[in-house]
Amino acid sequence: MEIYLDSNATTAVLPQAQEAAMTTMQDAFGNPSSVHSAGLRARSVLDSARACARRALGAQTGRIVFTSGATEGIQTAVLSCLNAWREKRDSGEAVPALLLYGATEHKAVPAALRHWNLMLGLGLDVQAIPVDRNGRHALDWLRLSAPQAAVVCTMAANNETGVVSDLDGIAQALAGSPALWLVDSVQALGKMDLRLAERRIDYAPFSGHKLYAPKGVGMLYVREGAPFTALMAGGGQESAARSGTENMAGIAALGAVLQELEEGNVFHSTAVLEGYREQLVHALRTAFPGLVLNAPLALALPTTVNFSVPGVASRLLLDVFDAAGLRMSAGSACGASRAQPSYVLDAMGLEPWRAASAVRLSFGPADDAKHIEEACRRIRRCGLALKASCLLPHVSAGESACDVVTRFSADGNCCYVVTDPGLRRCVVIDAGAEQIESVVRWMCCRGCSLVAAISTAHDEDTLSGAASLRLASSGFSPAATNALDPLGWPIDHDILAFGTWQLRRGVTSDQGSTLELWEGSDLRYRFGTGLDRTSKPEVGAVFDLPRHDPDTRVAMLASGPPAAPPSGSAELSMSGLLALLRQVPAMRLVDVRERVEQAVGALAPDDARLRVDHVPMSEFINALPDWFGLANDVPLVFVCRSGNRSAQAAKALRGMGRQKTWSLEGGVALCGQHLIAMATQSQETAGDW
Ligand code: PLP
Repeated sequence: MEIYLDSNATTAVLPQAQEAAMTTMQDAFGNPSSVHSAGLRARSVLDSARACARRALGAQTGRIVFTSGATEGIQTAVLSCLNAWREKRDSGEAVPALLLYGATEHKAVPAALRHWNLMLGLGLDVQAIPVDRNGRHALDWLRLSAPQAAVVCTMAANNETGVVSDLDGIAQALAGSPALWLVDSVQALGKMDLRLAERRIDYAPFSGHKLYAPKGVGMLYVREGAPFTALMAGGGQESAARSGTENMAGIAALGAVLQELEEGNVFHSTAVLEGYREQLVHALRTAFPGLVLNAPLALALPTTVNFSVPGVASRLLLDVFDAAGLRMSAGSACGASRAQPSYVLDAMGLEPWRAASAVRLSFGPADDAKHIEEACRRIRRCGLALKASCLLPHVSAGESACDVVTRFSADGNCCYVVTDPGLRRCVVIDAGAEQIESVVRWMCCRGCSLVAAISTAHDEDTLSGAASLRLASSGFSPAATNALDPLGWPIDHDILAFGTWQLRRGVTSDQGSTLELWEGSDLRYRFGTGLDRTSKPEVGAVFDLPRHDPDTRVAMLASGPPAAPPSGSAELSMSGLLALLRQVPAMRLVDVRERVEQAVGALAPDDARLRVDHVPMSEFINALPDWFGLANDVPLVFVCRSGNRSAQAAKALRGMGRQKTWSLEGGVALCGQHLIAMATQSQETAGDW
């Protein structure tokens, strides 16, 4: 079961809203402008939705205009303001110089101000109102600027942090100002009382999909007497305020939601929501000691928590949460595809690490106690899994699982740890400065002692990396340091033996020396920069593992003649996978998500004939001999969360000439219904997780 905690991005459609939309499409499908009975039935739906909106918003006067959403409402409001000021200017009146918006406002607001300022040729100065560390508007600044302001835009509550604006304080700061006041109320609907009748708010846009109505419907409140200019002209619908035949299914659905809001049977009170939030924050603090909140709870909507875990990037937390079936985000949904830190947290003056680690949890006012309890359980489980994988900052020595070769890659530079998983001894090869911290953490977590830290080249970065590793490893004696060759190899050893594995020095040149990893009498891997391609081994699959891998080739096949990569698409759809499985039941599906993701959301295919191997991308190298030992016609299909890492894996094998290798398009995110056992299921078998 999916636990959705991203309600500030959008919400599911309430069953009552679905029903209202369906009924409207079936029984009241008429055009509300028609005068026959079918039209009258549609008109009645429209009128009662508007009446409901008036009651729910406490707005008995002024306009309620149905729109396609908040972005349209914002455009209409801004156009109305600026057109009014333009008319005044054209009739000779002085126009104030400033268009002001809160620095943490949704992008739609400053973008609309700039757009219509340009379109109408006003040339006013668009300025951001600063906010303090709590995300609240600087009221002194506003008070000073208000007399020169033509328009002031201050959202009711922020979508990333949930911070609720001090609307009464803003109203006071605007006293005597000529400014028209726009309050983006998208995140407020259903979560706080806007008191539209009492406050002098001129425009308040709302969006249906943020409160359980479908996407593509919204409304704009316009105070009685506030200037109004229609954004869309045409057939004169909505009393000529918004032409175009109405989105009746959407409006009926929004009306049903507003009715529920009025009746109070579906949406919880602030006190209940605050209780839920307390439970979630407690679970988060238990799971992630040291967690910091990016906005004070006392100033935020009861349904939003924005937090950062020191030393843990948002991307990692979100991947693990997603694997556990918890849907959260790093900030606004429109910014999610851009890997840029949040401008909201930046405007609040929070340190860059907090923006880089920020996660937004937002639940909806209709979520119930069971949903919250399950969310808490999964959050705690993610914390334990991250701790067990040493991915939280305070690592305690442990015995986490590991394989023989582990790869650490940063900006195309690769370092390898060769481990004896039984005796927990390891050799680190080619660790650069950027990998030291992760490698030390990895060793500590697995209780591994350092046998040698070796560079394969006379390279300043890896030589000093090796020296730092020796220093950081308790148990590595200085006496041993004296007995090392210039690249870090212990000179009194020809071979470093790990059970059945042996590490040997290979070809040596002025640049450095390759290292060879043998399993019994078979050479399996060669490490190093500038590997000697003239001495290709004759038999068996041998893999070259380079220090520099800018194209993410991962490994190169050293033995045999170079094979041409397979042609055709490297991606397989879910139906393609099922067809392949029917054709070749022996096919292999390989989950390349990291161990921590697999721990919280294991893949368990519906079809028990399908074999799933778990090979995290960082341990991918270990499976190469096995995969290249398989008959060529056994298909290999890689899967990860979204399809990116699995595409890399398929590309790597195809690059080495392996035919019949694919990645599953859309990964667990799109094919999860078929492939993943939901976290609740593993929960039952996970004992005290
Ligand atoms: N304003 C705020 C505060 C929002 O959160 C959003 C949506 O993310 C919008 C405006 C835009 O709303 P819509 O998607 O309805 O255009």
